[in-house]
Parts: sequence; C-alpha cells; structure tokens
Amino acid sequence: MQNIANNLRRVNMAISDYEHKYHRPAHSVKLLAVSKGKSSEEILEAYAAGQRAFGENYLQEALLKMTALAQQSIEWHFIGKIQTNKTKKIAEHFAWVHSVDDMKIAKRLNDQRPAHLPPLNICIEVNISEQTTKSGIHANDMTLFAKYCTSLTRLKLRGLMAIPEEHHDFAKQRALCHQLSVLARGLRQAGFPIDTLSMGMSHDMEAAIAEGATMVRVGRAIFGPRE
Ligand SMILES: *Cc1c(COP(=O)(O)O)cnc(C)c1O
Repeated sequence: MQNIANNLRRVNMAISDYEHKYHRPAHSVKLLAVSKGKSSEEILEAYAAGQRAFGENYLQEALLKMTALAQQSIEWHFIGKIQTNKTKKIAEHFAWVHSVDDMKIAKRLNDQRPAHLPPLNICIEVNISEQTTKSGIHANDMTLFAKYCTSLTRLKLRGLMAIPEEHHDFAKQRALCHQLSVLARGLRQAGFPIDTLSMGMSHDMEAAIAEGATMVRVGRAIFGPRE
C-alpha cells in the first residue's frame, strides 16, 4: 500500500528544492495530482494531506469520482484526449482543460460552458518533436490557434501543455521541455497574456521546472504505479 500523504510531502519538497535550485520564485510551480485509475478514497487521502487540484484523463471515470467527492472543494483538470461527444460534460464539470488541440473542440467547449461558471481555463496542447502520442497541434499552427481560442469568450487561454516522449537522460528531457518554453515565450511576445506552462510528470519533473514549468502533472510519484 502506497503512503500517499508521505509521497505527496516528498513531491512538494522536491518542487521547492527545484524552484530554489533553478532560481525560480518560491511557490511558482503548482502541483496537479494526476489521479487516473485511482479511487476516490486515494484522492481523499491526498486531499486530507492538503492537495486540492486533481487531473483526470477519462470523463466517465472522473464524473464518478466527482460525485463521490462532491463535499470536497476540489479543482478538477481534464488532461486526457477529448472526444467530440464528451465536450459538454467536460465544459460543465471541469475548471481547466489542458489538452485542447482542435478548433472544433475549442468551439464546442466554449459554446457548452455553462453561463453561471467562469470561463473555462484552457491550455493548448503542442506536439513537440519526438512526442509519443499523436495529440497536440504543430508548433507552426500555434499562434493562429491561440488567436482563435482568444476569440472564444467562454474560454480563458492560460498557456501551453505538452507530453514529451519519455527519456531517462536529463539533458534530453530538458531539451524537450525547453522547446515548449521557447514557444510560450513567443506567444507572450506576440501579446498573449499566458501564465501557464503545463509540463513535467513523475519522471521529468526536475527538467520541466528547470525549463520554466508552472504546473507539473504528477501521478505515479504520488499514488504509486498504475495497473
Ligand atoms: C498520466 C499522465 C500524467 C502523469 O504521469 P505520471 O507518470 O503518473 O506522473 C501527466 N500528464 C498526462 C497528460 C497524463 O496522461
């Protein structure tokens, strides 16, 4: 059995150490606990230890946990692949969506965001080179896509997200994270007021923080291995 509270403390300590080591301001990196495949009880353990932001990849699984954890004040982030027929529920139930990479999906999320909720925070998923998955837009299309997202008033463009290919070489991890960092700087210079760089997972959190991540998405290091 994993000791979630201890793991969480270790991850939070590592984040502060890396902030210091790479001259990042204290508390400039937010921890998103990725709870896919984990139970509501496990989420509750992390919650009791102070964690508030949780990331989920699969809508149906997430909705069940949201119902079970309705009494907790959790900030839910959708980080998985978005199917067209799931946008309505995603727009209704999440505070953030990290994996927006398609105009039609962005438009649907915008139109389906309930009026009583604040605009949906989104990140554009970018397919940086050597990425494992096919998801994410090409860097060349990023500015145009960002412009489109900004025109949608029920969405709030917060920044960029990437899922780099898994490498064990630190320099290689940094080089991939660096690409996303450069793209974000370009967007800011083009006048987009973005504040979020969503990158870094259990295996490359240090590289991501070194390269300017503001949100790391950590699953295994908190909840243990997935089946
Ligand atoms: C599963 C997942 C994570 C967390 O990965 P770990 O290796 O468990 O830390 C982060 N981001 C996305 C998009 C994921 O699907």
